[in-house]
Amino acid sequence: LSPVEVYRQQHEVTASGDNVPAPFMTFEDTGFPPEILREIHAAGFTSPTPIQAQTWPIALQSRDIVAIAKTGSGKTLGYLMPAFILLRQRCNHSQNGPTVLVLAPTRELATQIQDEVLKFGRASRVSCTCLYGGAPKGLQLKELDRGADIVVATPGRLNDILEMKKIDFRQVSLLVLDEADRMLDMGFEPQIRKIVDQIPPHRQTLMYTATWPKEVRKIASDLLVNPVQVNIGNVD
Ligand code: ADP
Ligand code: MG
Repeated sequence: LSPVEVYRQQHEVTASGDNVPAPFMTFEDTGFPPEILREIHAAGFTSPTPIQAQTWPIALQSRDIVAIAKTGSGKTLGYLMPAFILLRQRCNHSQNGPTVLVLAPTRELATQIQDEVLKFGRASRVSCTCLYGGAPKGLQLKELDRGADIVVATPGRLNDILEMKKIDFRQVSLLVLDEADRMLDMGFEPQIRKIVDQIPPHRQTLMYTATWPKEVRKIASDLLVNPVQVNIGNVD
């Protein structure tokens, strides 16, 4: 077996799709800028988690991914690192709207994601706004007005703000659906579809889910283009 095959077997990684690149088995393999690697080392991380190792090289090729993995596998940095790299390449003005949109099921999750953006995106000077329900819109709209490279949002609140025409999605080139199965369980499918309708079609889409039932497969086939499917562990 080749080192890549050994790695995939040991870490229960399966990947299917066209020309799947080899995993980045070490942080040095990633080619991330030194100031990003410094943040990672400062956090005490010694190697990429299997989902990071396998999805980073695919995401950096601007390809769509559906990743099926349990919680605690390091999915957040799995999509945030490629987002930071994209933001460095694009040099978009955050005043004109976000470049990256992350959808997550709950306020708790959305704020956790924002915390990771602020921690690991500092070196890349990434700005981020978090939009969720159960809190007044005013402050969130004010923050949005200041401009954000990354918007992290729950689908309900984001859809409200979209209907108020308070957010411009024309620059969005990376869409992330985190915990897609949970968002569908919570009944957010109509809002997700309305939001996605506003995003330019030439985007990259990354979808993460812990389970793979037919509702999730359906939305994946509607929203992703020729994705690589990555499974970590024995998820069905
Ligand atoms: P998931 O979204 O898959 O549930 P998270 O992204 O929340 O997982 O990550 C779980 C924990 O692992 C977090 O505390 C995160 O900071 C940590 N973590 C992420 N990447 C690594 C890594 N490469 N090495 C060690 N810990 C990591
Ligand atoms: Mg997560």
